[in-house]
Amino acid sequence: MRPLEDGMKFDTIIKNGQIVTATDTQASDIGITSGKVAAIANSLPQEGAGKVIDAAGRMVIPGGIDVHTHLDMPFGGTTSADDFESGTIAAAHGGTTTLIDFAIQYKGQSLRQAFDTWMKKADGKAAIDYAFHCIITDLGTAQLEEMGALVREGVSSFKLFMAYPGVFMLDDATIFRAMSQAAKYGGLICMHAENGGAIDVLVQRALAEGKRSPKYHALTRPTTAEGEATGRAIALAEMAGAPVYIVHMSCNDALEKVREARDRGLAVYAETCPQYLFLSIENMDVPGFEGAKYVFTPPLREKWHQEKLWQGLARDTLQVVSTDHCPFCFKEQKELGKDDFTKIPNGGPGIEHRLSLVYTGGIHGGRFSPNRFVQMVATAPAKLFGLYPRKGTIAVGSDADLVVWDPNAEEVISAERHHMKVDYSMFEGIKVKGVPKTVLSRGRAVVENGKFVGKAGRGEFLKRQTFVRL
Ligand SMILES: [Zn+2]
Repeated sequence: MRPLEDGMKFDTIIKNGQIVTATDTQASDIGITSGKVAAIANSLPQEGAGKVIDAAGRMVIPGGIDVHTHLDMPFGGTTSADDFESGTIAAAHGGTTTLIDFAIQYKGQSLRQAFDTWMKKADGKAAIDYAFHCIITDLGTAQLEEMGALVREGVSSFKLFMAYPGVFMLDDATIFRAMSQAAKYGGLICMHAENGGAIDVLVQRALAEGKRSPKYHALTRPTTAEGEATGRAIALAEMAGAPVYIVHMSCNDALEKVREARDRGLAVYAETCPQYLFLSIENMDVPGFEGAKYVFTPPLREKWHQEKLWQGLARDTLQVVSTDHCPFCFKEQKELGKDDFTKIPNGGPGIEHRLSLVYTGGIHGGRFSPNRFVQMVATAPAKLFGLYPRKGTIAVGSDADLVVWDPNAEEVISAERHHMKVDYSMFEGIKVKGVPKTVLSRGRAVVENGKFVGKAGRGEFLKRQTFVRL
């Protein structure tokens, strides 16, 4: 807190709220000027303020940061159902004000081509701020050289795959080269850790035996495959002297590898997603083709893994909750795999409900504090991905990306009410407690009392800083 200058006027004041950051909880007002937090004080003068938001009885938290989304993404002959307009609007409804999506480099392309393509997809559409990781699928000498240039332009993280042979998968030598190069330029490697070779054999075997229903997507991707690849990714990063971030962790096998590496002091980080915290393979035991709604990768696991992941979040083995939002409609899109689970587009919708789900399970479930909640949905993502302190906290000088959060309001998640452009919800019928009431992006309201009041195209591309150890 700093003393208030005389005659200070604000565009907006949020009054009477309980400010909750990753480190502190304090009852204070927030004054906003030119899209930034300009003052935090016990009582700010309302005279001359353009707008006053009363947050009595509510928390004020930093806007959520979702570091794993796939908007407008081609996959298996179709495209994810949310583009940068509908996807960012749905995100805002859930209290997320920044997302990091993935620009995909296809074989033969430069990394620059990938970046340019995704910049065009977002331009004029995004309602909240956004950034990109670059997915590398083809890493020759030219692309290796390009990694440094991309980091300098604010694309400071790269995603690699150890799964999907022939499409995305890279061999260990290539992964090792990429990690070494990332370490040199201050980039962070995000890893999809599953043993794609073994999985492919299991998939072929299942198909040969006539096992074609959605559940076989999960049954052909064992937890051992995720555990093995996670361990291998960590070993490669250790040899390269590079940090590594494991994406969408789904099971205890992988969690144990990360815990062990962190115990040894390695710069190893990991995220999980609400689907792995709230759903299990039992959700796929539904009649007909319905299980396709839960076809994503890694797949749903046996129920006992959920509590292990919650514990991982509470103990900082896992630092981040993202969504891996990659929505495909059940009708026509998921149905592409009606007779063959390998043809079902992989992905599920989640961008809208991350904060409410984690708050419900974490705080009302008695697993961690509201500060820890803010840490994993906003602050740690900002710090790990070069957006801090502009994003991810509430401090003088930070962007006024703020959420007025009602910790006791309840809602039942349903496809009938959600804002994602997809015809089902993975979390249908789950009751959450803790929902956003007002959401500000750079000082302007984007959501008020459940209504979108922002503007498509107002979101800005964020140039991210190089990696700093958390
Ligand atoms: Zn993903």
